[in-house]
Amino acid sequence: MHHMTLAEIARGLADKKFSSEELTQVLLARIAQLNPQINSFISVTEELALSQAKAADARRANGESGALLGAPIAHKDLFCTQGIRTSCGSKMLDNFKAPYDATVVAKLAAAGAVTLGKTNMDEFAMGSANESSYYGAVKNPWNLEHVPGGSSGGSAAAVAARLLPAATATDTGGSIRQPAAFTNLTGLKPTYGRVSRWGMIAYASSLDQGGPLARTAEDCAILLQGMAGFDPNDSTSIDEPVPDYSASLSGSLQGLRIGVPKEYFSAGLDPRIAELVHNSVKELEKLGAVIKEISLPNMQHAIPAYYVIAPAEASSNLSRFDGVRFGYRCENPENLIDLYKRSRGEGFGAEVQRRIMVGAYALSAGYYDAYYLKAQKIRRLVKNDFMAAFNEVDIILGPTTPNPAWKLGAKNSDPVAEYLEDVYTITANLAGLPGLSMPAGFVDGLPVGVQLLAPYFQEGRLLNVAHQYQLNTDWHTRTPTGF
Ligand code: GLN
Repeated sequence: MHHMTLAEIARGLADKKFSSEELTQVLLARIAQLNPQINSFISVTEELALSQAKAADARRANGESGALLGAPIAHKDLFCTQGIRTSCGSKMLDNFKAPYDATVVAKLAAAGAVTLGKTNMDEFAMGSANESSYYGAVKNPWNLEHVPGGSSGGSAAAVAARLLPAATATDTGGSIRQPAAFTNLTGLKPTYGRVSRWGMIAYASSLDQGGPLARTAEDCAILLQGMAGFDPNDSTSIDEPVPDYSASLSGSLQGLRIGVPKEYFSAGLDPRIAELVHNSVKELEKLGAVIKEISLPNMQHAIPAYYVIAPAEASSNLSRFDGVRFGYRCENPENLIDLYKRSRGEGFGAEVQRRIMVGAYALSAGYYDAYYLKAQKIRRLVKNDFMAAFNEVDIILGPTTPNPAWKLGAKNSDPVAEYLEDVYTITANLAGLPGLSMPAGFVDGLPVGVQLLAPYFQEGRLLNVAHQYQLNTDWHTRTPTGF
């Protein structure tokens, strides 16, 4: 039962082959049995799941239908869930029970999705390895000595290990696409503004975007359908009609223009990944796509710009965690300043503190122009590169990551080495564009992803290309041994 995709579950529930309650019981038992190996959950919400499953079964018995009605999912632990711990992977929020549901959580619950739990993540979504969580590192089901990617590593590892078919995640600089690549999943970061950020604990507000992680493009379409849409509570949400994503899957790729940026194949890319990317290009050519070499000349500046902008916004967003209003408070403070200092010093981990310091520095008077303003100018150049490229092509294709998943601990002493692994994903966040990672092969037994980028609001096009690719390849069907 645990091997079913969301699409298969929807058919099974509609045909009354099993109930949502039965399926939920099976998956909860599987989580209890296998999660200790990978540490992908911070909280398992057994009671909530069973009551939601029963309610979904009752709605079906009353004649209701819907692809998400009774479908088991989990939420990354930065989506607020009313009355349930929402920790953001941090000691700071270990005791925080959200007073309301995030829009994404409320929408999926209304569609009948069943929440099995809250998934592990890098602290405040800062990281590319899921090693900075207060609740411990997440392990990659493909090799337990390797990282699953981050920051949505818990969602990715849980889906890859078949503990559930799909999960929500967020992507500020790659945190949906990179863990998807590292664990053989399909992950979609939507256009900035497509999915509401209301109730999603902020890391870098101008970059953060929620989206689906699943095994197939077909399932990403189903989950995105339940997440997307205008939200008056989020001032950056865009009032643009939501298309039928499942209907977009079937289009032909005949004549589709795919751009492959020459800058992607620089020295930093593992040649074995380059070869798998070329194989995926050949596969798409067979399906009728036309390949064109393009250039994204400002790509080399994207990492330094991102690692100024994201920490700057983080330093501002995280100032609310002061030991007074939310979360952790130190013992016996001597005075107010001591309360602030020790609550933040004890509540935040090392990477979060590093980002706050870098960000506050970049925003300080005297350095603002040299760092933050400069980074924003680079951001515009990165966007302009994409706009020029999309005058010539319909899709941009390349590797999702320069290397496969590294060993746990391998980059702990060198944060910049970890930042460099984000080279292919962060540009989409700087530009606000949608991007998808899909399974495209293996290197040393570890999964490799290919990334597709599209113009604003063309999530349907990304899902279409990935679905057609998945109808003609079987990488996405491979299962990690032991799961
Ligand atoms: N690795 C990037 C960072 O640490 C991106 C994280 C994310 O997308 N949340 O900022």
